[in-house]
Parts: sequence; C-alpha cells; structure tokens
Amino acid sequence: MGEFEIIERFFRDLGARRADVLLGIGDDAALLQPPPDRQWVAAVDTLVAGAHFPVDSPPRSIGHRALAVNLSDLAAMGAEPAHALLALTLPGSDEGWLQEFASGFAALANEHGVALIGGDTTSGPLAVTVTLLGFVPPGLALTRGGARPGDLVFVSGTPGDAAAGLPIAGRYAHVAALRSRFEFPTPRVALGQALAGLASACIDVSDGLAGDLGKLALSSGVAVYLDRDHLPLSAALRGAMSLADARQFALTGGDDYELAFTVPPAREAEFLRRLPDPTLVARIGEVRQGAGVWLNDGSTVTQFAHRGFDHFGGA
Ligand code: ADP
Ligand code: MG
Repeated sequence: MGEFEIIERFFRDLGARRADVLLGIGDDAALLQPPPDRQWVAAVDTLVAGAHFPVDSPPRSIGHRALAVNLSDLAAMGAEPAHALLALTLPGSDEGWLQEFASGFAALANEHGVALIGGDTTSGPLAVTVTLLGFVPPGLALTRGGARPGDLVFVSGTPGDAAAGLPIAGRYAHVAALRSRFEFPTPRVALGQALAGLASACIDVSDGLAGDLGKLALSSGVAVYLDRDHLPLSAALRGAMSLADARQFALTGGDDYELAFTVPPAREAEFLRRLPDPTLVARIGEVRQGAGVWLNDGSTVTQFAHRGFDHFGGA
C-alpha cells in the first residue's frame, strides 16, 4: 500500500461528519467554518513508540490513546472537541495494524463528535501526533491559574491505575482492569464542559496527580493540601498491592487522563448539581496560601517533592 491508498482506505471518512467542515481530507488543507459565538481551543500531543507506549502495544490502544490524550487536554480547558489532524509516522504499511489503529481512533472520535479533517503520513520509527481543535463559550475556558486559598480540590476517577497497568509495571500489569486503564483511558470530556465557568482552575493528570497539581499550584500562586485518606483508590489497585503502594501510585503514577480541579466553596452546591456523574469525582484537599503540594497523612503534613514526568529529566 502506498501513502495515497493508506489515506483513502483508513482515514478519508474517519470520525463524525460535521457541518462546519467545508472541506476535509483530500485537498492541501482543510477549510472550516468557525462558529460566530465561540472561542477556539487548540492542543497537540505526540506519542512516540517506546517512550509513551510499549512498542508492542495493541494498535487499537495506540489509536485510542493518540486521540484520548488530546481530548483530555481540551476537557481540562472546559472545551467541546470538534476537529482533529493526524500526523502518522509508520515503519511500514501493515494493513492489519492500520485497521486496528484507525478503528481505535474512530470509536473515540465518533463518541465525541470529532471529525478527522487532515493529517500527514510519513515513513520512519512509529510516532503519532494528533492536533485537536475545539470550542468554548467566550470567557468560560478553564486554566491552571485561577485557584484561590479556600477553594476545594477534586479529582475524577481513580488515579494510579494506568501507571500500575502499564506493561513495564510488570508485576501489576496482569491485572486486566489496570492494564485497560492504561490502554484505553477515558478522557473526561463531559465533566470538563460541566466545569467550564464554574471551577476556578483545572489540569488533566498526565504526569502524576501530585506533580500536575504542583503545576496548577505554581500557575495559581497557591499551595495545594491533599488529604492522604481521601485519595480515591480503585478496587483493582487496592487488590494488586499494599495500601501504601496504592497511595504512591495514586499520587505519582502518570497516564490517567483524569481531571484535577479546584472549586470555590460558594459554588460547591452548584458544582455537585451540574456533575454528569457524582460518583466520578472525589474531594481530596484544599487550596491554601503558600506554594507547592502538601500531603496530610492524618498526623503530619509534608511537602511533596515529586515533580512528575519530564522527558528531558530537567528540573
Ligand atoms: P500534501 O502533500 O499537500 O501535504 P498529502 O498528500 O500529504 O498532501 O495529503 C493529502 C490529504 O490527505 C490532505 O488532505 C491531508 O490532510 C490528508 N492526510 C494525509 N495523511 C493523513 C492522515 N494520516 N490522516 C488524515 N488525513 C491525512
Ligand atoms: Mg499540498
């Protein structure tokens, strides 16, 4: 299969059909009709084989994750996703691999009304870059920078599962429920949109809960205090290891693509009413004056040093 045939067979009609796509795949660039009353939100993320997923990952999972990580970034902004571009670097043109990859990508794109509007197909070591565009009502976008002392801190889902399920975590990866949290993370798109204009700050948890909350704290100029006993732990995580290790995974594991966010106490009732699924979120702490992330274990409060994942190992 040549480049042209790959695009025609696997990517030409992928994802949702949208009226705002005037010209999609097949020309030199896509043509979009911007909505009159929305702001654009844009994100891009690259997944490199061996760095972001094991080389032998199921191709359906690679397709799912390539879109999921970007959906998660838009969710963290409170945005509604709309259009994706896919830059794919492939070591070869394996039909079975492409079929599975495209169907993993397509299932998630259809679920969230995302149209694939273009991309690029090149040959080389396996890497997948997705650019995602979406919309938010003017002034309602969430950022990392709005948390204030007194705000409540929440997280969705059960962080730690994905890292424990990553095949290189070895001894835990046999737990299918954990492995599927790594391979098929659930971007919290509806939750993010429900938080728009309501949460004071939001970040998606890609590099570890404590490290990512550290970024939120830094952007907001505040400290985040976490209650160790309020960390939500899945039954699968608890079943796979000791309580202390499960808490460590929940605080430092990456690849969960959950949302961590802050809500002013005066808006808590409205927030709980607006939640698409109240069991999805747990209150894990509060914002205070100061800096950094602190962990309260019931008797002592210690500053959390873990910075989260950094590809270049820098500080
Ligand atoms: P050009 O050489 O002008 O950049 P290409 O031949 O690379 O165009 O691409 C032709 C069309 O196919 C374009 O619309 C481009 O956006 C689309 N395309 C190429 N690769 C992909 C892909 N992996 N996924 C989706 N669309 C793609
Ligand atoms: Mg061209």
